[in-house]
Amino acid sequence: VDETGNVTYKRFRANDLMFCIQTGIRHSVSKLASKPERDLLMKDFTVVEKVFHKKDGSAFTPAHGMNDFTFKSYAPIAFRYFRELFGIAPDDYMLSLCDRAMIEISNPGASGSIFYLTEDDEFILKTVMYREAEFLQKLLPGYYMNLNQNPRTLLPKFFGQYCYQSLGKNVRIICMNNLLPRKVKYHQKFDLKGSTYKRQASAAERQKQVPTLKDLDFMQLYPEGIFLEPETYDLLIRTIRRDCTVLESFKIMDYSLLIGIHNLDLQQKELERGDAERTEVARRSGSITVQQPDFGSPTDDDAIHRPGSSSPVPPSQSEIKPQSSPMGSLFKLGTKGASGDGSLPRNNRTRPPLLRAKTNREKFAAIVQEPTPARTQLYSKFNQESDTSQILPDGVLAWNSKGERLLLFMGIIDILQCYKLRKKMEHTVKSVVLDGDQISVCHPSFYSRRFQDFMAEKVFRKVPPGMFPAHVSPS
Ligand code: ATP
Ligand code: CA
Ligand code: CA
Repeated sequence: VDETGNVTYKRFRANDLMFCIQTGIRHSVSKLASKPERDLLMKDFTVVEKVFHKKDGSAFTPAHGMNDFTFKSYAPIAFRYFRELFGIAPDDYMLSLCDRAMIEISNPGASGSIFYLTEDDEFILKTVMYREAEFLQKLLPGYYMNLNQNPRTLLPKFFGQYCYQSLGKNVRIICMNNLLPRKVKYHQKFDLKGSTYKRQASAAERQKQVPTLKDLDFMQLYPEGIFLEPETYDLLIRTIRRDCTVLESFKIMDYSLLIGIHNLDLQQKELERGDAERTEVARRSGSITVQQPDFGSPTDDDAIHRPGSSSPVPPSQSEIKPQSSPMGSLFKLGTKGASGDGSLPRNNRTRPPLLRAKTNREKFAAIVQEPTPARTQLYSKFNQESDTSQILPDGVLAWNSKGERLLLFMGIIDILQCYKLRKKMEHTVKSVVLDGDQISVCHPSFYSRRFQDFMAEKVFRKVPPGMFPAHVSPS
């Protein structure tokens, strides 16, 4: 942050930087449209396209009013191919990245990188160091070969790599998938490595509304871990193990599992509390129209189509009975908001978000925001039946030890740290001073094994049989 209160990176103002990056990407992606689609060739990975953007524009580039800059796009044809692989159309990519101002997100990491999030929640741009950018270029062919073989993964998806050059400085940028959509409220966020050495969020980080907590914080808050349905557990752990094997094969280390936790039951209580407060305000002001948030009604769920199915999900209310098990109360939550006390006629309500939602992501967000019993069950089905490659980055149903329902948003991040660089030295230095087992800077195979075991043993657990109602847990 500079003296005028603006966030800067290498002395460039974050806002100006964003504008120039958007100008550069827009130009590069639209130019690509004229190049015919074809199979990837090895040489596509080494191409670097370089464009000079003059302040006042040229025959090929638009005027932008900033300092002259050069914009480099790395392996543009290869990245176009990857974007297609992930179902991202060129126009959508450009619209997401360039049409609106991006949101700068504060970075709890020590690296000083700047993160920008696109307004539609799809992409994250991250500034990276020279050796990380260099490493990604080398990694690219093998990495995507793996991703192609294995679409079921928690590894980051890279959609583009760029470099902005101006005033003798370089800003290297990578574009990747955003794991934590802003639409969802996170009650907790964790960045986990499986190491305990210095793995506690700083006091400054804790001051934030939703701090990014670390391994030691996790062990304190979830001494029993997070519970998953057995099938989900197996799938998730298998995925993590396979991903770690890939990372290890590239000698990558220092990566984390990022987990955003949305507590459905807590959210429901918060909504109900807000509801009660609003009703009370209206009552005191003598107003006859009670403004309530719209929870929809359970029958709204009829309108949801499961991904890949053309028939609506049948009403499932009859299957939801009051539960006598200790966890039974979970499934009574939400009914109050859904059916209310009958004070509001249905046509007074706005159209429920679930019916307004068009894309899967929107539907999903609507489900997350409004946990009624039918939705919970629907979500559970969604969780079990849809292709896991879709749900793993999009939200997994889980429980804490109190039996509260959680939705997990997660993925592996920060994978551009290669052992060969610098780390070797750090390890020898640190392991002399500290217990070699506990430091996060260590050999990739050790790092990978410790990471996997931590996730499989400490972070995630299988729901013990009988712990949750039968219609949610398949066991
Ligand atoms: P350091 O090297 O010091 O750990 P860094 O600058 O390399 O930090 P990352 O570890 O990549 O940064 O990410 C820092 C934080 O940014 C993460 O803990 C997470 O909160 C957020 N973040 C990173 N990548 C993503 C992503 N793909 N989606 C959502 N949030 C992300
Ligand atoms: Ca990190
Ligand atoms: Ca890093």
